[in-house]
Amino acid sequence: MAMCRAGLLGSRLPHPFRILCRQMSTEPRVAVDRLRQSGLLRTQGLIGGKWIDAYDGKTIPVHNPATGDVIANVPFMGRNEAINAISSAHEAFTSWSKLTANERSKRLRKWYDLIISHKEDLALLITLEQGKPLKESLGEVNYGASFIEFFAEEAKRIYGDIIPPTIDDRRLLVLKQPVGVVGAITPWNFPLAMITRKVGPALASGCTAVVKPSEYTPLTALAAAELALQAGISPGALNIVFGNAPDIGDSLLESTKVRKITFTGSTAVGKKLMAGSASTVKKISLELGGNAPCIVFDDADLDVAVKGTLAAKFRNSGQTCVCANRILVQEGIYDKFASAFAKAVQALEVGNGLIETTVQGPLINEAALEKVESLVKDATGKGADVLVGGRRHSLGRTFYEPTVLGNVNNEMLISSQEVFGPVAPLLRFKTEEEAIQIANDTNAGLAAYIFTSSMPRSWRVSEALEYGLVGVNEGLISTEVAPFGGFKQSGLGREGSKYGIDEYLEIKYVCLGNLKEA
Ligand code: NAP
Repeated sequence: MAMCRAGLLGSRLPHPFRILCRQMSTEPRVAVDRLRQSGLLRTQGLIGGKWIDAYDGKTIPVHNPATGDVIANVPFMGRNEAINAISSAHEAFTSWSKLTANERSKRLRKWYDLIISHKEDLALLITLEQGKPLKESLGEVNYGASFIEFFAEEAKRIYGDIIPPTIDDRRLLVLKQPVGVVGAITPWNFPLAMITRKVGPALASGCTAVVKPSEYTPLTALAAAELALQAGISPGALNIVFGNAPDIGDSLLESTKVRKITFTGSTAVGKKLMAGSASTVKKISLELGGNAPCIVFDDADLDVAVKGTLAAKFRNSGQTCVCANRILVQEGIYDKFASAFAKAVQALEVGNGLIETTVQGPLINEAALEKVESLVKDATGKGADVLVGGRRHSLGRTFYEPTVLGNVNNEMLISSQEVFGPVAPLLRFKTEEEAIQIANDTNAGLAAYIFTSSMPRSWRVSEALEYGLVGVNEGLISTEVAPFGGFKQSGLGREGSKYGIDEYLEIKYVCLGNLKEA
């Protein structure tokens, strides 16, 4: 147990959280009241620097997936609000893009500082509306904030070029300029980080944004936006609308003022957005679904492989795009790995993320639970063994037991579909070539993991895998300083790192001619 907690959680929760966790076990309103007092419980959309209700007054509830309680009611917005948000962003672009890079950098840095100084409240909000354990929420706040800090620094390094001319009275320059208004559509699984990964580089480069967070997790987005206003991000530079996703999405796609769409979410919606961007030829970045292979070779260090696979699979209860989805284990180590891994998974504590000992929270909703259930049923019906778990958790609602399935094969749906839940399917393989072939036999290509003690094999397999990210002897590899993005149908473009800002920039060539004195 100690090893599992160390692997997923690290050290104990900070002191204020421990007090809150104790209060929460008897008084569930404590967390919401604390947020109300901090001013971070914003329940309106943000357009042009003003907090706005839906124009027709419609609202929708935001639920705590662990309890079903309504945390808040928020506006259910649509086309009209989206169009106004686009106009505000378009208007704000003129002044925001003209600020010096240094000034934009200072304001982004201030936003970063405010996020960090409110990290406990932001983490609470994430746990309340998304369900992940507080310690993981705190990790997300730090991770999310890191993109604002990183791109505040990068704002000052958007360099152009001077190209040696081919005609001697000319000088050839390359300028990098902001794309314009960005439409950013984000999912519920990382309610803060998926926004900052887009808005950080957008604002740093001089773009303005209309963000549409998931209807399941708008409160974190609104709290972050409140801090952005406090930090001096200009009114209209960051707008938040949510509600009718297709209507808001279509408004962004149809508008000629929106010059870029950046999306994180399912491959199905990503394809719709890609098609919809064609009519106005928008720049587009897509972070879509994964089907990550995690390959454990005979020569792996067993403890490292168990700990790394546990982290890669069970973070956020398996609800991440980079979660290990297929665990391929070489036949020589299969039995030892399966038994040690199953023991570690058995020890994962399931519960409300506000309880300090929880390492596995609920799934986001009933539909997610049903999908997990049906994939397990299909696999066991076709011969998979349940090594641990395999059913709904006794806590009820959207809790599912952390599960390990043995002897999974390619006939089972679970080996080709994104599980997005706490189920680890183990597949047996014989040779390195076979593992690479199975790993690459998918339309997805986001993250892959390998466990081996051989350096030549690390290189060979990393190069052979058709994936945008590869973890070698490591299960948690995302960082703001490295590029994040997928091959094949897992997406287009990269987020984070020095490459991430290019997605928000146009390249302009300027030719200065006739420079000879008469
Ligand atoms: P989703 O259903 O595609 O939703 C993502 C976002 O798109 C939400 O804001 C959603 O709004 C919105 N949306 C839905 N239909 C739309 C439409 N017709 N037009 C415009 N927007 C629309 O995905 P999800 O279930 O939230 O997230 C899980 C998926 O995201 C998984 O496949 C996961 O792998 C992927 N993901 C990928 C990455 C990555 O970096 N590659 C990271 C995280 C997650 P509503 O929620 O309000 O309906």
